[in-house]
Amino acid sequence: MGYHAKNEQGKELTSSTFTDTELEAGRLLFAKECAFLLGVARVEQLPDDSLPEIAFAGRSNVGKSSLLNALTGRKSLARTSNTPGRTQQLNFFNLGSRLTLVDMPGYGFARAPKAAVTTWTRLIRDYLRGRVGLRRLCLLIDARHGLKPVDREIMDLMENSAVVFQVILTKCDKAKKLPELIAATEKTVSKYRAGSPRIIVTSSRQNIGIAQLRAELAKLAPNEALQ
Ligand code: GDP
Repeated sequence: MGYHAKNEQGKELTSSTFTDTELEAGRLLFAKECAFLLGVARVEQLPDDSLPEIAFAGRSNVGKSSLLNALTGRKSLARTSNTPGRTQQLNFFNLGSRLTLVDMPGYGFARAPKAAVTTWTRLIRDYLRGRVGLRRLCLLIDARHGLKPVDREIMDLMENSAVVFQVILTKCDKAKKLPELIAATEKTVSKYRAGSPRIIVTSSRQNIGIAQLRAELAKLAPNEALQ
């Protein structure tokens, strides 16, 4: 019963509303084939960015793999629970030849060696710099913990790189004070020109906000009729 109540709360509190047409566009887009393209450890290996690109970033264990799997309806598109700090590469996926999804390595893992952190930062900086096709970075924040200083560093990086970021709250089924968390997060995001004001509340486990996130991202894909 308690679980169900939280589920309903999460649904109500998604601070964004979408029309049926938008939701349908999202459903159709994410029903398309999603194929792994390549993993990139050095900036010289970046693939061509002719399709609009959407990157997903967040602290290690934020629920990024689960969210990517839920979005694409795959069980193991992105590997869940990767050894923190180990997977230091950008993984590129082609979604129906309409969008490129980029799974970025998790950050902020306390036990990661300093050298790994430096490599991460350099790779991300190089990737963000001049990546013309990059339309948005989905910044995943664990609804149990809220924004951490390291997340603010990523927001600063986005601001300096002029890349729009959008906060996606994950694991909302476990959040204690969701309305307060949303309000506080919105307040912080509003200080950034690069911050999208729309926060999307999700739970991969309870399938909350997934259809909404698909609808939001579908707006960034080229119109099929124009292809
Ligand atoms: P990643 O390291 O960011 O890729 O995170 P994972 O997707 O591997 O998830 C990390 C942990 O959080 C795992 O134990 C997942 O089962 C758990 N998790 C992921 N999504 C949710 C969610 O929506 N709700 C809850 N309660 N747990 C989740």
